[in-house]
Amino acid sequence: MREPPPPSGLNANFDSTLGLAELAQREELVDTLARTRLGGPFYVLGWALAGVGADLHEQQPVLFAGLMFLFALLALLRQRVHVQPISEVSARRQILQAWGIVMLSVVLWGLATAWLLWCARSTVGYEIALFATVAFVAAMAHTFAIRERFARIGILALCLPPLAVLVASEPLLGLAFAFFVAYSLFVLRRSTREYWQRVHQGIALKSQRDQFEQQSRRDVLTGLANRLCFELSLQALQADLTRCGQPFSLLLLDLDHFKDINDLNGHTAGDAVLSAFGQRLREHFGGDGEVAARWGGEEFAVLLPGVGMRQASARAEAFRAQLESGPLLHSAEGEPLDLRVSIGVGADVVGSTCPIASLLQQVDVALYRAKRRGRNRVEAVAA
Ligand code: GH3
Ligand code: MG
Ligand code: MG
Repeated sequence: MREPPPPSGLNANFDSTLGLAELAQREELVDTLARTRLGGPFYVLGWALAGVGADLHEQQPVLFAGLMFLFALLALLRQRVHVQPISEVSARRQILQAWGIVMLSVVLWGLATAWLLWCARSTVGYEIALFATVAFVAAMAHTFAIRERFARIGILALCLPPLAVLVASEPLLGLAFAFFVAYSLFVLRRSTREYWQRVHQGIALKSQRDQFEQQSRRDVLTGLANRLCFELSLQALQADLTRCGQPFSLLLLDLDHFKDINDLNGHTAGDAVLSAFGQRLREHFGGDGEVAARWGGEEFAVLLPGVGMRQASARAEAFRAQLESGPLLHSAEGEPLDLRVSIGVGADVVGSTCPIASLLQQVDVALYRAKRRGRNRVEAVAA
């Protein structure tokens, strides 16, 4: 049987069949890859500005250009990181690959900056290199806080080589830089905690929203689709089928003298009958794309895609006859609870422009004709 249509406008990526750990890993994968793509050009720009500011392009053109090439290559690799289907490459592997490229960037930056600080003191490039290092450390502590251990290694790779040079050449500046590194590691821990809190809260919210969506489209007593869900399915189906030139049929069913079942056996027994009837309806109209719904009270509706009037009437008649052939349930005293149903049938023929509301109204008229003509019968919409 057709499931209620997916909620429109909600997060289509959310798959409620996945466990919490898998959902969290998918979030991590998407975030890690997006953040990996972001940073590459800044290393290229940072190195170009610092190198030119330190006159490296004139004094050490080969080394400067070689490093420039490597930063550009890494930026390109970072740009090419995109989420691949989990079925082909595991999420863990994709995350590790992205981190691998990020690590290469930071290790290269740390070494290149140390070299620049060592050979180009008192140049503007020296300051630019330090500023850029601070910016990259901040990015590690915030943007890459997803994995604390990796980000910590990243910060150390960025900072330790320049720190060694600073301690040797400018001890006071080295001390200040060491404080900054320690502070960044502290911030990183907090950022990681906050990132995962956000991810888990997001997953819990999405799962709750999904559950509410499901509930808002199900009838609690029978487990069938409810009226809202049925009407949404009907609208979607009419548009789809009209496009492919296929008919569909509609059934409205009303239990006969149901009030008597309540009056004679109690409301709880009435509920049990409704629930059993819903189950029978589901079994009978459970074909591909078919929707059985509780319309309200003791009234039900069925949607049969690709089925014309004649076939729909025959299936309705078969259902009615089966219900008549034996009791659905027995009362607490063992008495059979006989149930009968009246059914109205209508079809939307190919090429018709009949609005759904008008089709429903015609089927309703057919149903009440069935009631008038003695109940326990099927009546089709007059041609
Ligand atoms: P008819 O053949 O003309 O359809 O007669 P009927 O008795 O089935 O119709 P009527 O509209 O007089 O009564 C419908 C009854 O269905 C009355 C109402 O209490 C009962 N009903 C509606 N919803 C529920 C429900 O959720 N549980 C139970 N137990 N009864 C319900
Ligand atoms: Mg009724
Ligand atoms: Mg009734």
